[in-house]
Amino acid sequence: MEKITAVKGMQDIYQPEVRLWQHIESLIRSEMNTFAYGEIRTPIIEKTELFVRGVGDGTDIVKKEMYTFTDKGERSVTMRPEGTASVVRAINEHNLLNSGEPVSKFYYIGPMFRYERPQKGRLRQFYQFGVECYGSESPFIDAEVIQILYNILSKLKLSDICVKLNSIGCPECRPVFRQSAEKYFSGIKEKLCGECNERISSNPLRIYDCKTPSCKENTEGAPVILEHLCPGCSGHFEKVKAALDSIGIPFTVDPRLVRGLDYYTRTAFEVTSRHLGAQDALGGGGRYDNLVSELGGPKTPAIGFAMGLERVVIAMKNQKAEPDFTGGCRAYVIPLSKNESGYAFKLLSALRKANIPSQMAVSEKKAGAHFKDAEKLGADFAVIIGEDEIKNGALTVKDLKNRSQKSVSESELTEYIKG
Ligand code: AMP
Repeated sequence: MEKITAVKGMQDIYQPEVRLWQHIESLIRSEMNTFAYGEIRTPIIEKTELFVRGVGDGTDIVKKEMYTFTDKGERSVTMRPEGTASVVRAINEHNLLNSGEPVSKFYYIGPMFRYERPQKGRLRQFYQFGVECYGSESPFIDAEVIQILYNILSKLKLSDICVKLNSIGCPECRPVFRQSAEKYFSGIKEKLCGECNERISSNPLRIYDCKTPSCKENTEGAPVILEHLCPGCSGHFEKVKAALDSIGIPFTVDPRLVRGLDYYTRTAFEVTSRHLGAQDALGGGGRYDNLVSELGGPKTPAIGFAMGLERVVIAMKNQKAEPDFTGGCRAYVIPLSKNESGYAFKLLSALRKANIPSQMAVSEKKAGAHFKDAEKLGADFAVIIGEDEIKNGALTVKDLKNRSQKSVSESELTEYIKG
């Protein structure tokens, strides 16, 4: 029969790579404890309207990439393409916002779904770790959020990362910028792709983000939003930069950096790695001071980011930054024949009770073949149980790393192996 394979653009994660995932996730959780962010888990499926309103109906995500379907109750639902809209929905629905301080801080880790053209580092189901911070316009909060992303990547030993920073203004300064951008882009219309032609009037900021080579080339001299910031936005941007400087987070101002989602205001940032190919962004985010109210909540400033776990895994592997995971199995218990397997099973249970990661051989084979299995598992010790061992109450313990062997009494076994 033909084998059934996974859906295109969706991948399985298993040993040994899954240990790297666990390592990344546990580092994230520990860092989130340090920064006093609480986890939030929202459903994978939401009403389609949430993303149309939250992410923006002019975005590629909403226009082309959503997994949307009608459920059995004739409701249009969507598998979440990103986390922010869901978190905002949840905090509005359950009144999770503090008014003022302490600032409400959340994080999430989970799968997202986008119907994109799959390639290395771009999947249709991918995992994001995201942070959302509500209730403050303080530039220190912008710096804190960028620091979280930077710290996590640094603690994962990723080097050659670059923090790109920009401000994309607010509803006060954007119209002025739009006017001058529209004028500029209308003058070079024929050099831009079809989609960017539409963007001239709908969303000129996105033209800076277009991957088409001719658009990239021909927007080099275009006016940038940084030059059009209102005093409030430019003052805020200066303070964010100063706060980052004060805690030693290196960054580069990239006046062309925009974000793919409509809801951003003011600070926008992205962290890239030189150890990735074309899809070089490890994570990105920014401020979204109007989203909470646009989704029916109180007017609440907010900032967040999302980091792609697949890309972090690829960058760590490319950089050989993976920790040494050997030693996952400490002891491999080998009964030499069926007669010893009952005794071995009890011994295995005692080892596990003492929290020693262990496994037992369950088929009969030659000792040499058992040792090979133990090595495959990465076990540190093989505990050999034959007729004599049971008779004498002394087990043969082979140290698989330095190839030595010792007779150890049953009562001393756990201490010996732990040692
Ligand atoms: P975004 O939500 O588009 O701002 O993306 C934030 C981060 O999620 C990116 O920097 C990537 O690391 C990751 N990401 C976004 N889309 C994908 C995808 N299709 N496959 C894998 N990772 C992705």
